[in-house]
Amino acid sequence: MRSSAEEAEEILKNEKINIIITDIKLPGIDGITFTKNVKKQYNLDVIITTGYSSEYFYEDAINNGASDLIFKPIRLNELMLRINRVMRERSLINERDRMIESLRKLSIRDSLTELYNSRHFYAQLEKEITRSDRYLHPLSLIFIDIDYFKTINDSYGHMVGDKALLLIAKKMKMSLRSLDTAYRFAGDEFTIILPETSSEKAKVVAERIRSAMKHESLVIFDKEIPNITLSIGVAEYIRNEEMEHFVHRADVTMYEAKKGGRDNIAISQKLAVLSNDFKVESAAPNI
Ligand code: GH3
Ligand code: MG
Repeated sequence: MRSSAEEAEEILKNEKINIIITDIKLPGIDGITFTKNVKKQYNLDVIITTGYSSEYFYEDAINNGASDLIFKPIRLNELMLRINRVMRERSLINERDRMIESLRKLSIRDSLTELYNSRHFYAQLEKEITRSDRYLHPLSLIFIDIDYFKTINDSYGHMVGDKALLLIAKKMKMSLRSLDTAYRFAGDEFTIILPETSSEKAKVVAERIRSAMKHESLVIFDKEIPNITLSIGVAEYIRNEEMEHFVHRADVTMYEAKKGGRDNIAISQKLAVLSNDFKVESAAPNI
């Protein structure tokens, strides 16, 4: 029990409090202002009490963030009932928030590989493009497609194919730096967003991924699957470029790597002339 809002605010800094019961008339800050302040900062409930039933209305308390208003004299049974109701509502709200958060997490993930999905890819890329335009920082995209993935399905079955996608996604993630994020774009195609990264640096990341895949076999259900290789396209964002154009440029560059013989990395030239038919000059050296 504390005698002023200021004292209570000190306690709140150090302790986890679930419910505050406060009078409206306090020595310093009044109970309504105190309620507004704490509701801005903490996830808790406030029950306001007052002996001045003609001066204060229920809606004054509720509109300022209180969960309930009790007029004095307070009967203990009534107070306990009201505290129980507020606690029940709080637990329902927390449960709802947890469910919303877990649905949100599910909605941005690909269930097979546990990477982010293409919907999240577009949302994140849009944010990164805005940031890159504003701060003039480089931004790169990597597109990856597994070479001859159909033959894994055909030779070992679809279930092994699924497991291979999961393991390849894991390897890919392990080769990334902390700012970079990986996505399953579609089928056997993956993308990586690399903020603050030029195409030269993105190429180093791409090379690390390509090499990690090539030099280790996957072991799935006791079967060794050797020689999985990747075709990779790298593109750096050109200022004021449309997002769809940037994505298409990275995708086209990945196909350049395929055409260049697979197990290969192609780089989209930074100064490529933007045109409506998405013509992109690509350097596709065989690595
Ligand atoms: P390449 O890319 O080198 O041209 O040849 P590819 O055999 O990999 O051909 P492509 O990329 O066009 O086809 C991808 C194949 O990936 C087609 C499909 O059978 C397989 N695939 C796509 N999604 C899944 C999936 O969720 N699970 C499994 N097991 N296979 C998938
Ligand atoms: Mg493929």
